[in-house]
Formats: sequence, structure tokens, C-alpha cells
Amino acid sequence: MKRVDNHFEIQGIKVDKICQEFGTPLYVYDADTIVGQLSKFRKAFEGVDFKVKYACKALTNLSIVKLMKTLGTGLDTVSIPEVKMGLSVGFEPEEIIFTPNAVDFSEIEEAVELGVHINIENMSNLERFAKKYGNTKPCCVRMNPFIMAESNSEKVEWWHKQSKFGISIKQIDDVKELVKEYGLVINGIHIHSSSVIMNPEIFIKGVQNVFEVAERFENLDYIDFGGGIKVLHKEDDEIINIFDLGKGLKEELAKFEERYGKKVQLWFEPGRFLVSDSGTLFTEVKIRKNNGHREFAGTDSGFNQLIRPMMYDAYHEIVNTSNPDGEEQMYTIVGNICEIDNFAVDRNMPEIREGDILAIKNAGAYGYSMASNYNSRMRPAEVMIVNGEAKLVRKRDTYEDLVKNQIVIDFDKESLDQKHQELTETL
Ligand SMILES: *Cc1c(COP(=O)(O)O)cnc(C)c1O
Repeated sequence: MKRVDNHFEIQGIKVDKICQEFGTPLYVYDADTIVGQLSKFRKAFEGVDFKVKYACKALTNLSIVKLMKTLGTGLDTVSIPEVKMGLSVGFEPEEIIFTPNAVDFSEIEEAVELGVHINIENMSNLERFAKKYGNTKPCCVRMNPFIMAESNSEKVEWWHKQSKFGISIKQIDDVKELVKEYGLVINGIHIHSSSVIMNPEIFIKGVQNVFEVAERFENLDYIDFGGGIKVLHKEDDEIINIFDLGKGLKEELAKFEERYGKKVQLWFEPGRFLVSDSGTLFTEVKIRKNNGHREFAGTDSGFNQLIRPMMYDAYHEIVNTSNPDGEEQMYTIVGNICEIDNFAVDRNMPEIREGDILAIKNAGAYGYSMASNYNSRMRPAEVMIVNGEAKLVRKRDTYEDLVKNQIVIDFDKESLDQKHQELTETL
């Protein structure tokens, strides 16, 4: 979204025109931004044998997933429906990796039948997998190097938040036992660092850590670094320079391959890095009020449509697209959910008037994909801007969508009344 004269536009289409055509609240994705992020990523790791597996839980709209396929990425999935979504838009099974967490083994069996790469993150399922498939189906193992990092407090801090994920490095001998006993073929290891990669130094420490773990496996074809590369949310954010990451990684990889005696492919699973910036949630201000302490701007959206500010305390830049030159004032921008529902607290913004369209930025990742129908409101429509055209990629929910899976049963009034009477007597 960029400002041109006194209006904002995406690929030459005026924001107000888009909002008029499709209504608000509205998610809008700029395909060019996604292409740009992917090209940055590829350029940063140029010269390395690597694959990008888009982590589609960040934004699962099928047109986005298909865009990724068209751009030549692979796919990282965390559930069987995500696998099926990938296949449905043309991904080959071998381009997809299935990385679930704490699932019933039947899901892994289903994924094997669908032909995708399997990534296992607990001993229970790894043992079942080894018993059932022996040496007939290779798998990737998700490790948690937490324990190994004990000697370095910064690293401990770094891994600490994800201790639920992966097989502890302490259990590596148990993993190897399965290899010996059942012929299990471990051809990949995976270490996802969550959304904490903020500077190259920490990233490189993490990379060294991953390579240390990798050296303990003999037959790796690939090492999967997961996702978790942060993007800029506001101008003074500490932001990772992906080109520095690439440079540091190449140095570490060369050292590793020399020690390991064989080349491996590197996989990355960026989610937010690819789609966060591309998405904007447009919402119209319906109510302005002052409660004696604060100036409120009440919008037609809420945390049911973008939960990140309330759930993660995430900062999202908000632009008043209707009045960019208005006089600056402090506002608390809220949603319409019937409980505390802030998008921004005490934010300095150009004057906000009823009817103004606000753009909540960085809404591409974990925006729509975490939306719900809480308060029985419709989830917004989604639009993609591609080749200078605004295309609807998901319709707004309808009332029928809200109630379609519900079953209204009949009640016997007499017996309920009797129960009511009985329970009242016990009071
Ligand atoms: C969520 C997730 C990702 C993507 O994380 P981002 O922070 O969006 O880059 C990648 N890999 C796995 C296994 C994940 O669960």
C-alpha cells in the first residue's frame, strides 16, 4: 500500500475503491509483495542448495497456496487438511512436508498414503512409525536441542519457549536404537526456532547448534531450519537483515559439510516472512467517542478477525487512509467485540472520523488464518491484488455459514420443568 497524492493505493488501485467494491472489514493481499519477499529470501541464500517450504498455516487461502506453487516453493503443513489443500492446487506430494505436533498416529499413516514427507516430533509416534514402515519410508525427525544448549544462557532462552516441540536431544540414543532395531531411515532433521529470530548473531548460534545435532545422524539428505524469521512491524523495530543471515549460514554450512563429509540440502519454512507484509486488514470506523479518559475509534472489525494485538501484544501499524493529513491526536482503536478488544492503545494518528477507512498493516500472516466467528459475526472477505487487478479469493461468511453445522433439537418441556423444580428445592 503506498500513498499517491492524497490517497492510498495497491498496485495502482485506490484503497477506497477496493473497499467500496468488496465492503469492510476486508483482508487484502498484494501478490507483488509476496513475490518480492520470496525473491529476497532466494537471493539471500543464493549459492546454497536449498528449498523454501511455505508454512501455509500463516495464511491458508487456496489462491495464496497456489501462488506459492506457481512461484515454485514447496509447502510446510501441520494438518491433513493442509496437506490436501496443497495437493488440490497442484503441489506434488514430494514437495510437501507434514510437520504435525502431538497427533494421533493415524494422521501420520494418512500422510504416508498421500505420499508427503513425514516429520515426526515425539518418541511415541517415531516408534510406531519405525515398527510399521521399517526401512520402506524415510522420515525426518524434529529435534529440540534445548538440553544441548544448556551451557549458553542466551541459547537456552532462545529455545526455551518451544520445549513442547521436538524430541529432546537427550533421547538421541533412543532414536538411534529405532534405527538399529527396525532399519528406520532418518534422512532429515528439523529444528524450528519459532518467531524469535531477530538478529543474525542469534540465528548463527542457532545454526551452529542445528549442525551439531545434525552431525549425530549419519544419512541426512536435508536439514530443515523451520521458519520464524521476523518481519518489520514498525520503523524502529530491530529487524533481521536476511542477507547477513545468508552470508553467515553459508560460512557455517561449508564448515559443517567438511566435517560431515557429504552435502546436504537445506530447507526453510518461512510463513510470516513471505506473507505478513503483503496483507492489510481494512476496517471502517463506525463510532468515535470519548469516555473522559480516552479517545476511542470503534471499528467494524475486532479480535475475532485479527487476534494478534490481543493475543500476542503484537504491534500493528495502523494508517488512516481517509484522512492522512488530519491533525495528529491520540486514539485507542478498538473492535466491536463485547469485551476488551484493542487494536491499538493510545496511538498517535491523524484525526479519525466516523466513516474513515483504517488500514491495519502486517495482517497477512496469522490474520485470517486465526479468525473466528466469535460474537456470531461473519469472517471478512479476502481479496488478492495481482497484475493490477483486485480479485476476490474468499467470500465473506454468510448467516447460513454460521449456522450450517448446527442441529436444533427438540425439548420436552414437562421434564425440564420438573428438573428445574427439583433443583430449585435443593437450594
Ligand atoms: C509455524 C511454523 C512455521 C512458520 O513460522 P513463521 O514464524 O510464520 O515463519 C514453520 N515451520 C513450522 C514447523 C511451523 O510450525
